[in-house]
Amino acid sequence: MIDSDGPLTWNIGSVRVTRVEESVVPVPWSGLVPGGADRVDACRPWIDPHVDEDGGHLLLSIHSFVVETPQNCIVVDTCIGRDDLAFAGDAAFGERLTAALPAGVEGVDVVVCTHLHFDHIGWNTVEVGGVLLPRFPNARYLVSRDELAADRDAEDTRAFVRSVEPLRAAGCLEPVAGDQVIDPWVALEPTPGHTPGHVSVRIVDGEATAVITGDLAHSPLQLAYPDTASVSDHDRRQATATRARLVGELAGSDTLVLGTHFPPPTGGRLVPRGDLIAFESGHDQFPSG
Ligand SMILES: [Zn+2]
Repeated sequence: MIDSDGPLTWNIGSVRVTRVEESVVPVPWSGLVPGGADRVDACRPWIDPHVDEDGGHLLLSIHSFVVETPQNCIVVDTCIGRDDLAFAGDAAFGERLTAALPAGVEGVDVVVCTHLHFDHIGWNTVEVGGVLLPRFPNARYLVSRDELAADRDAEDTRAFVRSVEPLRAAGCLEPVAGDQVIDPWVALEPTPGHTPGHVSVRIVDGEATAVITGDLAHSPLQLAYPDTASVSDHDRRQATATRARLVGELAGSDTLVLGTHFPPPTGGRLVPRGDLIAFESGHDQFPSG
């Protein structure tokens, strides 16, 4: 059951994943996924939790995932967190995230940045006495080498200066391969297109598997129609190929898909329904323990 009083959680074998929300905002399809407006009706009813009442806006969630394995506490993406950027973050998010961590910010072993857009790295750092420091003082921050080497626009450069350069100065930024293995349960997986070095996160424990998407899709509509690009996709052809590859692999499987921008219920399976691949979100299929 979804616990409306607390964050969503899932168990993937011995790995526990918790969603910690910063915000959910309605965004017109034209502003983010222009091809979505004409396709939303074909995706009903399963798209309903992901759109507003008349389907004219997608609901964009900004959240972190806390991934607890038998060896590590991992935070995947750290949301917006700054009020000097295009979107304001939520000042209370830091408290919610800390509350979801089993041993506080000091107990986080690894932070994964799926990519370096501002809405994924904002809470990487904390300002103390005018100095930006790593928010998770004992964590290694993993960023793919290709992502670090990529060009950045002005907005992402501002975010990089605030949220990545202080990590480098503190010695905790760890450039990694796109398929870096973190521990026996969690590994990165290259999913380029949205950005050049974009990664998803694969969780495996025996038969139980899950994928944290990152921004390879902003709405599950893009998994039903992989050619529906986001305006923020750096390379639309590559992003479409990446979505199509993942959908081809996961459709009809038991793999839990955890959408980095999908509002509650956030997790689901890819189920072939007629001509389309539906994102079916029955949270009861992935109960928390
Ligand atoms: Zn994003």
